[in-house]
Amino acid sequence: MALFINRARLGLFVASINWRRYALFLWVLILFSFAPPPAKKGLRTKNVIIVVIDGPRYSETWGTNPGIIPQMASRMKPRGVFFSNFYNNAFTYTNSGHVALTTGINQPIDNFEAELPQQPSIFQIWRKATGKPATAAWLITSKDKLHILANTQNPEWKDQFQPSMDCGISGPGSGYRADSLTLVAAKRILTQHKPNLVLINFMEPDGFAHAANWENYLRGIARDDKYVGELYDFLQKNKAYRNSTTLLITNDHGRHLDGIDGGFVDHGDDCEGCRHISLLALGPDFKRGRTLTETYTLTDVPSTVAHLLEFPLEQSQGKVIQGLFKRW
Ligand SMILES: [Zn+2]
Ligand SMILES: [Zn+2]
Repeated sequence: MALFINRARLGLFVASINWRRYALFLWVLILFSFAPPPAKKGLRTKNVIIVVIDGPRYSETWGTNPGIIPQMASRMKPRGVFFSNFYNNAFTYTNSGHVALTTGINQPIDNFEAELPQQPSIFQIWRKATGKPATAAWLITSKDKLHILANTQNPEWKDQFQPSMDCGISGPGSGYRADSLTLVAAKRILTQHKPNLVLINFMEPDGFAHAANWENYLRGIARDDKYVGELYDFLQKNKAYRNSTTLLITNDHGRHLDGIDGGFVDHGDDCEGCRHISLLALGPDFKRGRTLTETYTLTDVPSTVAHLLEFPLEQSQGKVIQGLFKRW
């Protein structure tokens, strides 16, 4: 009899364990059904930083070996994807090249008169899509005139969702500043505000070339390579950016081939020197140590950024550069 009771008690005990397990199972099921879905593309990029080195010609950057850009060509290239046939295939001057990068649209925008882009920038569209504050998106440029990238003529977007700006010596109309100071500003802003979407413009190769100073033009390229290397190290050491940041280094335009309209001094037409630029892309979602030889252009950059940060960019004339990604 005693044995029978014990067995009955044991049976009840076992039954209660099973019920508890069942309840736990149900509870886990409920928890999962309310949990937010995992990031749909499984991407690790949370920040995108676009660096534009203004106006070097391919023959003085990636086209020479050994060249004067050791940080990018020797140290960083093996850690990312390099594009050997990357082009500005439209308007080869500063404002248009930058607008192609920030809107995905090639337009012949005035290079000096503060004409605003036709359509909103990736900063505006991203801010609207995410609800992030102005301090989460930054435009940090050596050329003061690039403040135009923050806004648009489109009345539905004008003066809305603009990024924060740090342009030129002290804003629009203040003149160009040295790239060393732009690097200092970039590090300060990244430390203080930890923005997720940033465009940095370094202008020295373009500035010195327009002054017809070949030595300083080359020195400007070499210096900007050094600054890009410093920025890369800064991102690697910074907890907010390490392993979660995509770095895209490109140009707005090149310069005339020798023998065309003063050669390296100027740019603006559709010669190979003006159109052939470069892209070096590093990030946690990208392949490493690859060179892609397919032709891509400036407007493919914002499409790719929109894919990485998961916001819509229907207006772009470009396409997502699928070949960059580890998994597609
Ligand atoms: Zn120029
Ligand atoms: Zn040209």
